[in-house]
Order: sequence, then C-alpha cells, then structure tokens
Amino acid sequence: MRKKSLKHVQLEILNRRTVLSARDRKDLLRYQLGYTGELQFDGIVEALGVPIVHLKDYRFRLDAAADDRKTAAGPSEVQIDNIIIAGDQLYTFEIKNYQYDIEYTADRSWRFVGGKEIVNPLNQVDNHRNVLAEMMREFNMHFNMTNNIVFIHPEQTIYSLPNHQNIYVRTNMMKRLKYVLQPNQYDYPRFIEMLDSRRVVKSAYDADANVTFEELAGGVFCPDCEHVPLQRVHRGKFMCKSCSHDYTTVEVLKQLVEELRTLNSSWQLSSSKLAEYSGHTCSSATIRRYRQKNLIDY
Ligand SMILES: [Zn+2]
Repeated sequence: MRKKSLKHVQLEILNRRTVLSARDRKDLLRYQLGYTGELQFDGIVEALGVPIVHLKDYRFRLDAAADDRKTAAGPSEVQIDNIIIAGDQLYTFEIKNYQYDIEYTADRSWRFVGGKEIVNPLNQVDNHRNVLAEMMREFNMHFNMTNNIVFIHPEQTIYSLPNHQNIYVRTNMMKRLKYVLQPNQYDYPRFIEMLDSRRVVKSAYDADANVTFEELAGGVFCPDCEHVPLQRVHRGKFMCKSCSHDYTTVEVLKQLVEELRTLNSSWQLSSSKLAEYSGHTCSSATIRRYRQKNLIDY
C-alpha cells in the first residue's frame, strides 16, 4: 500500500473544510495527479505478476556533497518512489504524471511546450543514484543499479526525446518493464535492513497546517470522496451517497480525530471540540461515552 504525503492529506482535509487559495488548489491537484500516477505504476508492476522486491516511498537524508542545491536551507531529503530488485539487479523508478507536453533538449534543459523551463527531471534521478550508491558503499554491498524516470500520463507527448534508456514513456513502458522485471534468484533481507536503517520516517518538511481550529468548517465527510457530507442512516450508521460506503459512528469519530491530528499534532482535543468539528452531528456526550468504552482515543 502506498501512502499519501502529509501535505497531500492536509490539503484534502482543508479542501473540505476551508476555501483553498489558488496556490493550495494547484498544489492539491499536483499531489493528486502524482499519487494517481504512482498507483497506476504499482498496478502495472503488480499485474505483471513477477516475484520481485518492490519498495515504495523511501525517503533519505541527502548527503550535503550529493546535493547540488547550494542554497538549500536545512536538511535536504530525497524521496524514492520505487526501489525495485528484479533479476537480482537494482532499479529505481521516479514517476511523473504530467498532463502537459514537454520538450526535451539535449543540453538538458526541459520545458513545457510553449511554456516555462522546468527542473530537469533527470537531476532527481541522479540524486537517487547518489544516495543509494553512497549507502551501498558504506554497507559494502554490491548491486548493478539503474535509475529511471517514468512519464506515465497516457496523453502526454515528449517532443525530441531520443531513445534514452532511463526514460520510460507510455509507448515503451510495457516492453521495457517486461524485459527488466525478471524474478530474483535470491532474497534481499540485508539490503532492506540497510534501507530501513537510513529511512527518514518523518520528513523535516512535514509541518502542522497553517490554519486555526476556528477556521475549519464543521461536518462529517466521506474520506474517499472529494466533498461529500455523510448522511446519517440511523443512530449508529452513516452513508456516503457518492460511493455508497457506510461508516459506523465509531469510524466517523476516529476519522475526525485522525484529521485533527493530521492538521496539527499539538492541538488538545476534547469531546466538545470534536462535537464542534463534527458540525454537532455527534454530541459531546456521545463522544465521551465512546471514549469511556475505549472505542476512540483522543
Ligand atoms: Zn464516498
């Protein structure tokens, strides 16, 4: 299972409960598109049904020497969407789900067609290689490594793209993946242990959302749908009209707690605060009762 980033989840909650600024809205779309692309890639790899090692969303601290951003403030991190061991070789895949067409130029500057220059996505791939190579040196591990980028959007065109072996696009992706995703002969517990020992679980860039409790609209919403208030079916049950999923009151309350913790980990929660956040769909007496029964925790 692949998790959304903290910022992505925060923006989804804020989108239901506040009016997002144009910039936040744009960021949310970018996160949604990126996440969808990653899930698509996971689905494609899974459907091939080959026994491989597929590790998702590993974040590492980037060695200062390997970071080319000289002005970066604070610790730099690199996130690797996909680390795959297949055919006893190591691969990384960075997924880009860009809607817009791109122009590739040999001098390594990339631009959106008719638009502005973008950061060369191959720089990111270089960071992936550097951080893993450095780690393997340190742990005395040897692997043949290939670092790739995947442009997964089905309607995107990249103009002037040469036949670059590390750039996957929709038209060559299946053929290439079938070729590289071969079964492993060996297991790799030591390699996974190495990655886990260096993995950054909480990013230095994760922060509480810039919002006060008072700014949030109350109500109970479906966690899977964009902006759908849950309907009460009867005393202990709610339903989403859009996806037909139903939720018990305990599940609804757990979600409210989870949302508030996601927005700001330092907020003190109470039954009356949760009642207010639920838009008084649940009374503070009910919430207290569930807590006394240990069904919810806040
Ligand atoms: Zn729903």
